[in-house]
Amino acid sequence: MFFDSHFNLLPVEKQWEYIITQTPAFIRSGLRDIVHEHGHTCVQAFYAALIEHPDAALFLEKDMIEKRLSGSLQAWVERLFPAQEDDVPELIALQRRVGEIHARLEISPGLVSYAFFFIKVSLNSFIAKKFDTEKDQITAILYCQYMIDFALKYMNMAYNSDFRKKIEQDQSFRMLSLGQDLNFEKETQKTTFFDWSTQALFCLCEQRPENLQTIGESQFGLWMSHKGHGLFKGMEDYNLLQAMIEKIDLRIDDIRKNKEIPPGFALVLKNNIYDLTLLTNRLFQGVEALQSGLDPLTKALTRRFLDVVLQNEITFSLTNDKEFSLILLDIDHFKHINDEHGHLIGDETLRFIAEMLMNTIRSNDFVFRYGGEEFLIVLTERGRDDAMACAERIRSSLEQAVVTTSTGNKLRMTVSGGVTTFKGETKINTLVTQADRALYEAKITGRNRIVAFK
Ligand code: GH3
Ligand code: MG
Ligand code: MG
Repeated sequence: MFFDSHFNLLPVEKQWEYIITQTPAFIRSGLRDIVHEHGHTCVQAFYAALIEHPDAALFLEKDMIEKRLSGSLQAWVERLFPAQEDDVPELIALQRRVGEIHARLEISPGLVSYAFFFIKVSLNSFIAKKFDTEKDQITAILYCQYMIDFALKYMNMAYNSDFRKKIEQDQSFRMLSLGQDLNFEKETQKTTFFDWSTQALFCLCEQRPENLQTIGESQFGLWMSHKGHGLFKGMEDYNLLQAMIEKIDLRIDDIRKNKEIPPGFALVLKNNIYDLTLLTNRLFQGVEALQSGLDPLTKALTRRFLDVVLQNEITFSLTNDKEFSLILLDIDHFKHINDEHGHLIGDETLRFIAEMLMNTIRSNDFVFRYGGEEFLIVLTERGRDDAMACAERIRSSLEQAVVTTSTGNKLRMTVSGGVTTFKGETKINTLVTQADRALYEAKITGRNRIVAFK
């Protein structure tokens, strides 16, 4: 098949039609027969290759392949090959659905292309037997190649746009939550909670259990369930608060039903009100700190934005075929510093280290405070060797540094680090876990060292 400049100018779906119309009908029907007879073998070759790939083992279970995926992949090849030119819109829609499913399962396009290679190889072996002349064999092999390439193209397009959608949703959600006037909400909710609690305690004093209102029914409870959910999503204190509300409400429901206030309930309620006030304050303080996206102590990014940054980097890497790396650092024996010099000096050293990290990296990299004395660096467009070199630079400059504290003490400390590089896996947790494993290795093999994930 010859592609002239006219072909390049066609819209992609017309190019696909062109490939079908330019391939002789007997070649296409020959391929239809092959997939009909041997589709099952090709699908087995595909999954055999996939299951052995280390990245795939994370999300593909043998059972799932046998029960569901094999059948749908076989249907997919059988749909692809007998195609007529009029079928292209339907084929495109099918590829898009598959790409969306891959995005949901976080199966990366790199991995899918890799596995499709085995389908091609398997089909080619049947083509050699089916067609007699070399010319027909070549035409059939090319046709098979082109059809799969176009299918993959649409699959990947859907994958990327679905993945982006996910990021955009997260971002717009955050904008919505953080765009509210936080101070106003805080004061209003303090008042609505106060209203509920005075009313509840008043009912107890007056011995009117039937007038008790659950927190869920109160303005405060409604706000917490709807707006609070957006604002505090993912915060441990929010789950705690909701669980507490649920527990109190169950008791209030019982009391209303039985029209009887159990002895000691007033004290229970008073304690609960105290705890809920504390939690509510903490939640708002937490959001205030997060609003800027920076950790107040170290000015490094907070962990809350880590997923968004990593998702962006993953999408960028997949679409631009670039690498990026993570460095997870943990200060060695940091507890000793706190124990010997006190928590405030501990805080000072954390600030010192964060500042050093931010001075070491380029402006397009990210530094997160990942845990108490752990920092995570996202090195954009950097492969393993660069990341190792960067981590090593940090390790050795910290080893040589002397921190002079505000109290005049001179401290020395070391850091251990784990490094990992993105290779197409799209699960954020996998990447961070890899860095964490490498860090663990660095700790158990003596600390003050950097280890790359293998
Ligand atoms: P290892 O070499 O195994 O990492 O030892 P470690 O002592 O650093 O590890 P561990 O995780 O047991 O202790 C971390 C300590 O960091 C415990 C905690 O008190 C301290 N820490 C966590 N966050 C802060 C903080 O914000 N300020 C101060 N001063 N200390 C903190
Ligand atoms: Mg630690
Ligand atoms: Mg530590």
